[in-house]
Amino acid sequence: MVKRKKLGPVARLGVRYGVTLRKRLSKIEVEMKKPHECPSCGVIAVKKVSVGLWGCRKCGYTFAGGAYTPSTKLGEVAKRASRGTPSEAIKVSGKEKEKVE
Ligand SMILES: [Zn+2]
Repeated sequence: MVKRKKLGPVARLGVRYGVTLRKRLSKIEVEMKKPHECPSCGVIAVKKVSVGLWGCRKCGYTFAGGAYTPSTKLGEVAKRASRGTPSEAIKVSGKEKEKVE
């Protein structure tokens, strides 16, 4: 029998696709599948509804976020920028600022 190593959600893939890609997917899936905190009611009950769409199972609040996580660093920057406080957005490290521009 094949010896199963602790690979988490990517154990289903077996030996396919290469270890680097499986590890990368594992990291994303673990983060994606765990319950997240609701920005509306604060209860840890947010689950992914669809790509970029997250919903709270407690209060029913649905919101747009990252594809694999409810909020991304880049999303935070965009949110601040859209609120009309670009001075704060500039404070974020230079690397992210480059991506935005
Ligand atoms: Zn909620």
